[in-house]
Amino acid sequence: MPENIQQKIEELRTELHQHNYNYYILDEAKISDFEFDLKLKELQELEKNHPEFYDANSPTLRVGGEITKNFPTIQHQFRMYSLDNSYDFDDLEDWEKRIIKTINEPVEFVAELKYDGASISIFYESGKLRQAVTRGDGFQGDEITANVKTISDIPLTLKGDFPTQFFMRGEIYLTRKNFDKINARREEEGLDLFMNPRNTASGSLKMQDSAEVRKRGLSAVLYQFISSEIPAETHWELLQNSRKWGFKVSDQAKLCKNLDEIKAFITYWDEHRHELPFEIDGIVLKVNSIKQQAQLGYTAKSPRWAMAYKFKAEKVETELLTVTYQVGRTGAITPVANLKPVLLAGTIVKRASLHNEDIIKKLGLHEHDFVYVEKGGEIIPKIVGINEEKRKSDSKEIEYITNCPECGTELVRIEDQAIHFCPNDLHCPPQVVGRMIHYVSRKALDIEGLGAETIEQLYREKLIENPADFYTLTKEQILPLERMAEKSAQNIIDGVEKSKQIPFEKVLFGIGIKHVGETVAKKLAKNFNSIDDLKNATAEELIQVEDIGGKIAESIVNFFKDPENLLMIERLKSYGVQLEKGENTNEVISTVLEDKTFLFTGKLSLFTREAAEEMVEKHGGKNISAVSKNLNYLVVGEKAGSKLKKAQDIGTSEILDEQQFLDLISN
Ligand code: AMP
Ligand code: ZN
Repeated sequence: MPENIQQKIEELRTELHQHNYNYYILDEAKISDFEFDLKLKELQELEKNHPEFYDANSPTLRVGGEITKNFPTIQHQFRMYSLDNSYDFDDLEDWEKRIIKTINEPVEFVAELKYDGASISIFYESGKLRQAVTRGDGFQGDEITANVKTISDIPLTLKGDFPTQFFMRGEIYLTRKNFDKINARREEEGLDLFMNPRNTASGSLKMQDSAEVRKRGLSAVLYQFISSEIPAETHWELLQNSRKWGFKVSDQAKLCKNLDEIKAFITYWDEHRHELPFEIDGIVLKVNSIKQQAQLGYTAKSPRWAMAYKFKAEKVETELLTVTYQVGRTGAITPVANLKPVLLAGTIVKRASLHNEDIIKKLGLHEHDFVYVEKGGEIIPKIVGINEEKRKSDSKEIEYITNCPECGTELVRIEDQAIHFCPNDLHCPPQVVGRMIHYVSRKALDIEGLGAETIEQLYREKLIENPADFYTLTKEQILPLERMAEKSAQNIIDGVEKSKQIPFEKVLFGIGIKHVGETVAKKLAKNFNSIDDLKNATAEELIQVEDIGGKIAESIVNFFKDPENLLMIERLKSYGVQLEKGENTNEVISTVLEDKTFLFTGKLSLFTREAAEEMVEKHGGKNISAVSKNLNYLVVGEKAGSKLKKAQDIGTSEILDEQQFLDLISN
């Protein structure tokens, strides 16, 4: 029987790797998404019930879920160099001349797009992805293997005739479409928007929860094979081989025989880069012959055999019409320059972000100035300078507002931050709306049918002004709204009704206590049985909870001091919203761990911490959050630190490794 299961698991893994390759690398799916998901679910289920067949490269790891608290620093075996930059064709001609002088024979080049993302080095051994490390300072970077495994473009296992050990370098990036999607969702959830795809890509790689990384929809392209033994004569050949081994290699790379072909490539992409689904900031040129590369060698900073050609950011001049101020859903103020419309990088630009007061002061912006606008990596163009010759002698300097444009409250500027806030969080309209949008969002009460727009309309019609009002809405009130049909109105009513089943921890996140995010809400719900218990807790008691610091504790205490908040809570309670922990609905599998306490520490490799804690509960045990005399078992993964030491010092807990823990359960 177990042999059959192991065989089944392995078959499913092979099959899913192949489908992934077909879909992401070859771009030709052979089965439907639905069928794929079914197979993946089947594999997940089998793996869950059979942790003994764990494989660090299973396709199920694509889904993510592994939590990394600290990313270990790893030395690069081969340094990750920068590239020399050139900005015009003269620079390129000089570079080529220098190369010819050293080499003294014909030289070919490979021209590639310069992807604007985060570079990555991935180690493969025996055809399996072993480790992925960020560039860092070029000498050492952060290990982000679990997160990289969630990226579909990156193969977890290779095919064909690959070398036993090597590094693959490449770029992780976000397509414009996925970047817009992320921001659209953030807008809906009332979160701050991301600035550009590049920062978002590199930020995503450092998220602790790999399932969240997965949701970002990152892409990857691989462009450099690195090893002490190079199994080919040219870079071009290496690229073609890499593709055969299952790597996603750029389709736009081109072999160029001479400088004219390089120039034609550059000119073409400078003009057409806006048509690509992702951003590039230039072209990279590499000497094709590996032998010649070795002859040329490296400077202190970069290879002599490669060169980046950077596209110029497009810049235009236009007139500043007005400066207006937006109030975000968290109360943050953003000044916006409204411009006379002008064509820039393929789109018409009417507005530019001014970010904050300091930036306006630094620019020395006056009313009706003629400004230079540039579109760099940022989606929103920025003002990079002023044509002072065109300034009228009587034009006044722009003065930053002192009061909220939405509610009139005097703004505050948090010390050593450049941003102004409106402190009137309970009554400032965008903040009131923001709070309600947060309440209905997916990770909170998850009320379908209630989008940002509908909430804004309901608020304008004075039908709602805090989350408790959702529960008294009637269909008759909703129906007259713009673009509202009978069916959508009914959906809202049903969604609100359904939200009464949402568990306490999510409600706790949804009511929007400052600094209480999803994770903190979970921790609180674990430690307090009801909202009343939480309300009665003192700051000292709150700080006892794992991960709750002084700032959060203070914010919770303040929240419950406000009579309006208390009223809202009482109303939510009266409508039947879950403000206390429900019955523990976890099915119990056995009682072998009855009365025993557990704590997990270090990097676990057989299961995630969450899964482990769930197993403990399902077998009748209890999870506790700190080492003490009351701890029966400390389960240690790799690199366990202070907790292990403390447990050894106290000497009353039994120390188990992961396998011993599994044995304990199966007994
Ligand atoms: P820079 O950061 O300006 O020194 O440029 C070097 C970076 O360009 C590398 O670290 C890579 O992340 C990135 N890059 C993007 N596309 C390529 C490519 N096709 N070949 C090499 N590097 C690239
Ligand atoms: Zn305000």
